[in-house]
Amino acid sequence: MRDQPFQTLIPTMRFDVITLFPEEFLRTLNFGVVGRALARGQVQVECVNPRDFTTDAYRRVDERVYGGGPGMVMLLDPLKLALAHVRARTEVPAKLTLLSPQGATLTQAHARDLSLRPSMILLCGRYEGIDQRFIDGYVDEELSIGDYVLSGGELGAMVVIDALARLLPGVLNKSESAEQDSFSDGLLDCPHYTRPEKSADGDVPEILKCGNHAAIARWRRMQSLGATWQKRPDLLAQLTLSKSDAKLLAEFQMSFKA
Ligand code: SAM
Repeated sequence: MRDQPFQTLIPTMRFDVITLFPEEFLRTLNFGVVGRALARGQVQVECVNPRDFTTDAYRRVDERVYGGGPGMVMLLDPLKLALAHVRARTEVPAKLTLLSPQGATLTQAHARDLSLRPSMILLCGRYEGIDQRFIDGYVDEELSIGDYVLSGGELGAMVVIDALARLLPGVLNKSESAEQDSFSDGLLDCPHYTRPEKSADGDVPEILKCGNHAAIARWRRMQSLGATWQKRPDLLAQLTLSKSDAKLLAEFQMSFKA
C-alpha cells in the first residue's frame, strides 16, 4: 500500500499546456490548493514550448499577418510539432482545447463536465492569435474565460486548471468543500462569518450561533436565494424554485424591503 502511487487511489487529472512561457506558467500555478494538488500528484501539469520545435536560427514562433495590418500570428509548424510531441508522450488521447476569447465561456457546470476527463491539452495563444489552419485542422474546442481580451492564453489556462482541480475528489479538504460554492446548485453562496463574534463593524448573526443545524441550513438557503436575487437575477430566472425555496426567497425579500 505504501508504495502504491496516489493516482491509483483517487481520480487525477493531467494537463499538457502548450505555451511560450513554460517556466513562468509552472511557477505561477504552484501555490495554494493547486500547488498542493500538484505536490500530491492529484493534478499533473506538463508544459511544452513551441519554440523548442523551431528549425530556424532565430527560433521564430510568429510571423506577420497576410493581408496587412498590425500584429503577429503564431506559426503553424512549431505548433504542429509541439502537439505531436504531446500526443506521443501521453497514453490517453486528449482533446486539444484552445484558450480563446471566441470560445464557449467557462461556467461552473462546464468546469464540472471537464473535470470528469482524465486529461486535457491546453493551447495558449499569443500575439494576434494562431494561424487559422492550425485551429481548423487540430483544435477540438475553444474555451474562453470571459468576454474580454487577454494578452495570452496562459492566465486562461491557469483559470481552467484551478477551476477543474478543486472539483476533483480529494483535492479540497472538508473545510474547503466545493459543494456550497456559488453556482454549484445554480445559486450564489451564502455569507460567511468568523471571529470576532462582535465588532464595531457588526455582530455575527445570532442564528449561526444557536447550534440548531436545521435552522442554520434554512437561513443559509434563504441567504443564497437572496444573494442570487440581489446580485444575479439572471441566474435566478433560469431556475424553477421549489415551493419551499420560493417561500424562503419571499421571506428574504420581505425582510430586505422592511
Ligand atoms: N485577436 C484575437 C481575437 O480578438 O479573437 C485575440 C488574441 S489575444 C491578444 C492572444 C491570445 O490570448 C489568444 O490567442 C488566446 O489564447 C488568449 N486569450 C485572450 N483573451 C482570452 C479569453 N477571454 N479567454 C481565453 N483566452 C484568451
